[in-house]
Amino acid sequence: MNSPLQTEHLWMPFTANRQFKEKPRLLSKAEGMYYQSSDGRQILDGTAGLWCVNAGHNHPKIVAAIQQQAATMDFAPTFQMGHPLAFEAATKLAEITPTGMDRVFFCNDGSEGVDTALKIALAYHRIRGEAGRFRLIGRERGYHGVGFGGISVGGIAGNRKQFGPGLSGIDHLPHPLDITRNAFSKGLPVHGEELAGILETRLLALHDPTTVAAVIVEPIQGSTGVIIPPKDYLRRLRDICSKHGILLIFDEVITGFGRLGTAFGADYFDVIPDMIICAKGLTNAAVPMGAVVVNTAIYDSFMASSPKDSIELFHGYTYSAHPLACAAAIATLEVYQEEQLFERAAQIAPYFEAAAHQLRDLPHVRDIRNLGLVCGIELSPQAGKTTTRAFDIFEKCFWEKDLLIRTTGDIIALSPPLIINHAQIEQLFSKLAEAIREHANKANTSI
Ligand code: PMP
Repeated sequence: MNSPLQTEHLWMPFTANRQFKEKPRLLSKAEGMYYQSSDGRQILDGTAGLWCVNAGHNHPKIVAAIQQQAATMDFAPTFQMGHPLAFEAATKLAEITPTGMDRVFFCNDGSEGVDTALKIALAYHRIRGEAGRFRLIGRERGYHGVGFGGISVGGIAGNRKQFGPGLSGIDHLPHPLDITRNAFSKGLPVHGEELAGILETRLLALHDPTTVAAVIVEPIQGSTGVIIPPKDYLRRLRDICSKHGILLIFDEVITGFGRLGTAFGADYFDVIPDMIICAKGLTNAAVPMGAVVVNTAIYDSFMASSPKDSIELFHGYTYSAHPLACAAAIATLEVYQEEQLFERAAQIAPYFEAAAHQLRDLPHVRDIRNLGLVCGIELSPQAGKTTTRAFDIFEKCFWEKDLLIRTTGDIIALSPPLIINHAQIEQLFSKLAEAIREHANKANTSI
């Protein structure tokens, strides 16, 4: 028999530790579209783990690649040293990034990717003699991980307020979510392109544009509740950045690797940034890994900035291009291609959309929005409660419906693995609908 779980030593991330430890939600196995809970139930994974297991859990090819690499070479330094898999992984990644974006810097996760990209942006301007470009611009409700750079350009008060002022020289644009004008939007919302124009207004009214180094945005703001940019919004941001010599960074930690039915959000929106940050789906989340992909001009500027025998960028991680992560990334990128998973996501997305919008008349549903295989269902807020209605529904889904969803505030976010089939989409939304209905009925009878 298993010994009882000791919970006191682990300090859990982004978790109400004391509440969680009273009744832990535990997962112990995974395969394909399902987790197995520690009490032996099959749990349908509506969130691809944390937006990351795009090819489904425990893919045999990825598992085998990691096992083989672990038995071959556990670790190799990548400072002034190399190993072939690092180059192979970068080459494979560059094959699917947008044209012209093909130089890859490896790190270990999204947060490191964000810090890496921001540092590259600042250094890029300096090496070109524009040290005056120090400002960074993010967006309200932007999530860019938890490094100091990331929480500073990020726009989530909760992630900042415990830690003081963060980086200086930061500004935030408004986010483009507008439930009043774009309620129950399918695909790209129609209204709101003009919000991108606020970048130019701010540049001219508040900041000298020549003081701005970079603008960083998620093509879809995932973690704060699936905020989809209005039609033409990202293109307009691109135009303004180009006009003023400002680098545009896409944080594609969620939108990368097929989530929108294309390799990257940049492809879906047909807007090419100067840098793309990716992580999560890069290794199907089997081994932590992140990357910053930059355009050739940025890389070439660094190469031209100093003599051949000097280090061009003073940045790197012990585990940059870790052999296990590289093996996992190579196998994962092959799986995406062999199984045509991005195309598959694009094909099934209309079915996912139709199933999602069937929930629109359920109690407390204020908005449903979706693109590709990502969907946000926003519920009406409840005054005076610390635990939201969405969180109660998340718990109900886990314990009673054998379904894993994710919530942020009053919003339920869904982002299943790209291998989801029609029957599983039906199951996902019917289980969720039951949970929403039962939760509302219970609330009514307990008044
Ligand atoms: N950027 C975005 C857009 C993300 O969604 C996340 C994680 N959800 C991160 C950065 C941070 O990634 P990580 O948790 O791997 O550090």
